[in-house]
Amino acid sequence: MAETTDVAIIGGGAAGCAVAYYLAQSGVKSTIIEREGLGNQASGYSAGGLNPLTGIGIPGPLGAFGWESYQLHIELYESLKEQSGIDYQHRTVAKIDLAMQESDVAGLRETLELFQGVDGFNARWLEPEDIAKLEPRIAPGILGGVYEYGNDAVDSHNLTEAFAAAAEKMGSTVRAGNVQSLESSGGNVDRVVLADGEISCGQVVMAMGPWSRRAESWLGVYIPVDPLKGEIIRLENKGEPFKHDLSGGGGTIYPKLDGLNWCGTTEEWKGFDREPSEEVAQAIRERVVRLVPDLATAKIMKHTACLRPVTPDWLPVLGLAPDWENVYLATGAGKKGILLSTGIGKSIADLMTTGETTLSIQGYAPERFATQLQ
Ligand SMILES: Cc1cc2nc3c(=O)[nH]c(=O)nc-3n(C[C@H](O)[C@H](O)[C@H](O)COP(=O)(O)OP(=O)(O)OC[C@H]3O[C@@H](n4cnc5c(N)ncnc54)[C@H](O)[C@@H]3O)c2cc1C
Repeated sequence: MAETTDVAIIGGGAAGCAVAYYLAQSGVKSTIIEREGLGNQASGYSAGGLNPLTGIGIPGPLGAFGWESYQLHIELYESLKEQSGIDYQHRTVAKIDLAMQESDVAGLRETLELFQGVDGFNARWLEPEDIAKLEPRIAPGILGGVYEYGNDAVDSHNLTEAFAAAAEKMGSTVRAGNVQSLESSGGNVDRVVLADGEISCGQVVMAMGPWSRRAESWLGVYIPVDPLKGEIIRLENKGEPFKHDLSGGGGTIYPKLDGLNWCGTTEEWKGFDREPSEEVAQAIRERVVRLVPDLATAKIMKHTACLRPVTPDWLPVLGLAPDWENVYLATGAGKKGILLSTGIGKSIADLMTTGETTLSIQGYAPERFATQLQ
């Protein structure tokens, strides 16, 4: 029998699974089509930070949407954990941003300002002796730092699974498959063509992350999303776990609930190369050893590399595809795709079910890029 679905969602990362979840909450069943397993790309191997106050475009064009997405995460945690049966370990983290050299101080003072007066957040300047008391293993010679409290973190692989599992419990489906093309009539896509079959559909969501450009030729629409490679090494922890995320000199240490110190992260334009590199592992280690000398001999327990979906203006691409009546783009979340997953899921589901959303996605319409391929 021919397969059929109300909504075909192409891509089972955080974006696609969040759309499936919020659609299901509105009573719309979907089919998530994923070729490499749910959350097995960037959504499974990110650092999982939910940081709404800083980053590219914050403060700025990503600020309001980042904040709304952060609030949605907070509201969602208990119910999604219960609905899905998956605890993705949403928690608030404390971080120390370290000044390694004099030129770091001004930037850190600016970060400190961003935290002032924000509900649930606080930050203060730390002198070297304060830092030594909070984290005694930090290298001597640090000039000071900023203590930051209020950012949250999740296990992003489990979050992605949780969105999908909850959607499935509400009647949606996850289907393994590699989408090859789309079949359309007029301005509507009515079939998704896979390597092993076809699915008839009422609407389509393109949530293909860094592979989104593949859909340009299917739709005739410009979707400028490029892959930015990022690597993380997970180091064994000797002694007491660190109580804070630690950052400075280009290195960050995230003590995770799995007992390991995740260290990274890197940014390289290397096409679709997803191979973890020995050289990069070495470079990450050198940077974090400057923060914590003890990590020089810590064993690498896991080393991951994956690709962020990045647009030319570092903003997501959300909304109806130009000149199509039933195709939505949900991609391009760049370095913030875990934070933004809730906002992406809810805004796209809102648009699909009511034609509008109260979330601040006005600047992210696909039309802002040249709409048609030349
Ligand atoms: C090292 C690193 C650290 C990061 N840290 C953070 C962080 O702390 N906080 C944060 O908010 N963000 C972080 N990010 C960014 C975040 O991980 C991404 O923005 C996010 O995961 C993107 O989600 P996505 O669903 O759009 O894409 P993906 O997770 O890449 O999912 C897209 C899916 O589509 C599937 N797909 C593509 N084409 C097809 C096809 N033709 N048929 C079927 N399936 C297809 C792919 O297999 C993939 O599973 C980090 C990223 C990296 C690399």
